[in-house]
Amino acid sequence: MKKMSALLAASILFSGVWASMTQAAEVSVYSARKEHLIKPLFDAYTAKTGVKINYTTGKAGMLLEKLKAEGEHPAADLLITVDAGNLWHAADTGIFEPVDSKILAANIPAHLRDPENRWFGFSVRARTIIYNKNKVNPEQLSTYEDLADPKWKGKLALRTSKKVYNQSLVAAMIAEHGEEKAEEIVRGWVKNLAAAPYAKDSKALEALVAGVADVTLVNTYYYGRMMKKNPDLPLVIFWPNQETTGVHVNVSGGGLIKGAKNKEEAIKLLEWFSGIEAQGLFAGSNMEYPANPAVKPSEFVASWGDFKADPIGTAKYGEFQEAAVKLMDRARYK
Ligand code: FE
Repeated sequence: MKKMSALLAASILFSGVWASMTQAAEVSVYSARKEHLIKPLFDAYTAKTGVKINYTTGKAGMLLEKLKAEGEHPAADLLITVDAGNLWHAADTGIFEPVDSKILAANIPAHLRDPENRWFGFSVRARTIIYNKNKVNPEQLSTYEDLADPKWKGKLALRTSKKVYNQSLVAAMIAEHGEEKAEEIVRGWVKNLAAAPYAKDSKALEALVAGVADVTLVNTYYYGRMMKKNPDLPLVIFWPNQETTGVHVNVSGGGLIKGAKNKEEAIKLLEWFSGIEAQGLFAGSNMEYPANPAVKPSEFVASWGDFKADPIGTAKYGEFQEAAVKLMDRARYK
């Protein structure tokens, strides 16, 4: 009898430990970064650690609404999304819990994360000038601001101002030049448009190929995708503002959800994202730049050349987002 109860106690204890072990080894993620970009990372992490990752992908706004609705009992431990403007907005609604991690602080430069450590950038995207080499001599190019010059009249293609990427770019210009000067620049861009703003960066690039416009502003990975498919396209990258502010960069990244059920495991996953092993995958899957300066971009991305990036804090993009949206509206940038 005594032996039986000891055995029973041991098995209860064991099953309890087992249950808590299996329960802990899990992280749930909401991701606005597309499935084909994040799944390879999750698979690699699970293969390495055995930690199971449940994930839901969707639009940034939808996932944020979902988290707000879930309130104190979130179904996700982490939110991954694109653009510092979106990360800032998520932080502003109060869904993130700050993470004080020595590993994250060491791996991710300060300008690529929230000053209060509520979110961290894990890959960097450069929003730069692309030109048609049959139409433009690169010596004519210099800065984002210069694209407002009348010499570009009828030659500029832009993506819509409704896209957060352009809101962040204009927010950075407001932070750097003040609203008045930034508005003057945006008004100049609008005057120079070759066609109504496009719904996607890829459409703006296609306008260059079709001869509708000569020059545009896009994230480099859209350029990379097109050039990979057709290396003979007459499109070339130009790095603007090399003598002034530097190339406008943004991040995709994430943070810990307040009230996360698997907080410890979730922080470990964030830390792993920032490390040498994951950084190549995080950036490489989308032809972006690693946020961790110790990791080099892929050979293909590196072939576009080195550039000086704008060191402005990406958190500023959220701070000035509302002003940027209003400014673009006043300037009739659709
Ligand atoms: Fe994109």
